[in-house]
Amino acid sequence: MPRISDIYGSMVFNEHTMQERLPSATYKQLMRTIKDGAPLDLDVANVVAHAMKEWAIEKGATHYTHWFQPLTGITSEKHDSFLDPMPDGRAIMSFSGKELIQGEPDASSFPSGGLRATFEARGYTAWDPTSYAFIKDEVLCIPTAFCSYTGEALDKKTPLLRSMKAVEEQAGRVLDLFGDEHDRVVPTLGAEQEYFLISEEDYKKRLDLVLTGRTLFGYSPCKGQELEEHYFGAIRPTVNNYMKELDDVLWKLGVSAKTKHNEVAPAQHELAPIFANVNRAIDGNLLTMEEMRLLASHYGLVCLQHEKPFESINGSGKHNNWSLSAGKKNLFDPGENPMENLRFLVFLTGVIQAVDEYQELLRMTAASAGNDHRLGANEAPPAIVSIFLGDELGAVVDALVEDHDYTSADRVSMDLGVDVLPNFLKDNSDRNRTSPFAFTGNKFEFRMPGSEQNLSDCDTVLNTAMAKSLKEFADQMEGLEGEAFEAAAIDYIKHTLRDHKRIIFNGDGYSDEWPEEAARRGLANHKTTADALPCYVSEKSFELFEEFGVLSRAEVQSRYEVKLEKYNKIMNIEVRTMKRLVRRDYLPAINKFAADIARHIAEVEAVLPDADLTCQRERLRKLLAGAAEINQHLEKLHTLHYASREVVDQQERANMNAHQIVPVMDDLRHAVDQMELIVEREFWPVPTYNEILFYA
Ligand code: ADP
Ligand code: MG
Repeated sequence: MPRISDIYGSMVFNEHTMQERLPSATYKQLMRTIKDGAPLDLDVANVVAHAMKEWAIEKGATHYTHWFQPLTGITSEKHDSFLDPMPDGRAIMSFSGKELIQGEPDASSFPSGGLRATFEARGYTAWDPTSYAFIKDEVLCIPTAFCSYTGEALDKKTPLLRSMKAVEEQAGRVLDLFGDEHDRVVPTLGAEQEYFLISEEDYKKRLDLVLTGRTLFGYSPCKGQELEEHYFGAIRPTVNNYMKELDDVLWKLGVSAKTKHNEVAPAQHELAPIFANVNRAIDGNLLTMEEMRLLASHYGLVCLQHEKPFESINGSGKHNNWSLSAGKKNLFDPGENPMENLRFLVFLTGVIQAVDEYQELLRMTAASAGNDHRLGANEAPPAIVSIFLGDELGAVVDALVEDHDYTSADRVSMDLGVDVLPNFLKDNSDRNRTSPFAFTGNKFEFRMPGSEQNLSDCDTVLNTAMAKSLKEFADQMEGLEGEAFEAAAIDYIKHTLRDHKRIIFNGDGYSDEWPEEAARRGLANHKTTADALPCYVSEKSFELFEEFGVLSRAEVQSRYEVKLEKYNKIMNIEVRTMKRLVRRDYLPAINKFAADIARHIAEVEAVLPDADLTCQRERLRKLLAGAAEINQHLEKLHTLHYASREVVDQQERANMNAHQIVPVMDDLRHAVDQMELIVEREFWPVPTYNEILFYA
């Protein structure tokens, strides 16, 4: 086995490789672009492109691609070879600065929410030099942004980069007020990725998994997760080999895969990387997801990334660990002295204000057909956004809100802004797993996003909302210095916390009382995607994104439409798959088994007229009643489904899907699942949860 340090980043055109391969003047200019956002001219790009190509060819690459993230959320690539035929019949390998900087994929088939009419279908991709190029499967992949020719963002990366700039600027202003010499402020992200692995054999037999990524039917297995033996349990050898190969591939791609373990549900696992700049971290997460899916086939496995592949079993999330860093300084680390503590409190207050003010937008970013089955279920945070601070930090905030001094458990007293903050962080082990937005020592963990989602959406909102809080603070404090600044800052913290304390909740988010309490506090509770999306196109949302140049009105509108349409399309696919399966697989199986029993009864009676056939008759009756019930739900679903397709307005159709169709899908499913319990095994058309989740 090669050492990690030898292979790590070996397929990445990273800073180290750049320094090695580029003339020093070019290297310096490129670094100015990467680190300070300076514009890049074509001469520099030409030199970089040449070096990149030589490096890639040495590593076996034959093609290059602009690697981008259209609004589907997953990555797209179109491979172009370096091939350049010469007049004399030979060919050379070429790659120009222009090809590095800009590409033109034929993009008419990507969703754009009406932003790019098909007659002007060509969007263009633009190199994002702040995320390293890498080689994957003999292709040099160049991370790019994807825009229309009129400049509108058609992807997930562009607004993320804009939001990073917004929060960098405003956080910079705040740090300046503190008189801090500081580096650029960069949001950081550690994305924990949950997933399931099941056998390819079972997968192929389940059309629902193949077409929708989740099981639309299936009774809960005899053994679930109640023994709590899977979490952190010994990893089965096949899975272990898979994880090893995955690590290996990811390390070569410069993705810092760090932790791997079995998750709570049977057949569920998690991978967490070491955090990085949010832009690179998201690129890394998308690569991770792709490699997870690809490599599974080497082991006869399939990787499920759906948020809720199995009912009654935990679903999969993607925890978004987010922080702000200025060089080596984490802005959510309370410091060693009073001023650093004050700075910490300003940033903490900023987050509390941002999350309260834009709770609906944050919730919206986690809304999807898949995640609707997870949020609010027993293992995932509820659909209500609230912040967990922990006992000690919670008490500090209380003291500020109520204007009294604070004395910590270890008797460190704090007269705000004067003494050192008590050391509550070291002691923050009491993590509240039920909170959707938890302070975990020196970062915030947003737990609503689903395993399949691209985290750009939520980090774009977080960065922008945070920029807004920090701007308000900076605007009010500008011009103040010394003690006047300190006094004004403490005052600002106090009244802002007072205004937004309703968002702080340290209790049990799974309890029945919490939704009631949340309603009293006026917190939003959007249970489905259909309910969660409209806030995206509210004035408040438009204004936020416009103020910081993150998204124009048209861009927001288009994103809303894309999300709505995607939701409706997925619902349509699920309903069609359900109907097809019931008609062609489940009902016939139930009927066959019923006929088998009927024959059996007749045969036995012929031989033994007085035989006791109560049990058989009872079973037959149950089967017939079950089939009738299934048929009823099926007809109802069918009628609603056809009616929904007549609804032109996508929001109305989404409402119908969420509130009328989903309940009938649930009824249909449960009627079929009941039959799974009594139909003889060899008649049942698909592998059941017992088999799928507990493979050898
Ligand atoms: P868990 O939440 O499972 O206990 P950890 O708290 O150790 O796990 O870390 C979860 C993730 O948070 C990891 O990906 C880690 O790199 C990331 N993380 C740690 N510090 C930061 C930070 N300052 N900014 C963003 N992410 C961070
Ligand atoms: Mg975590």
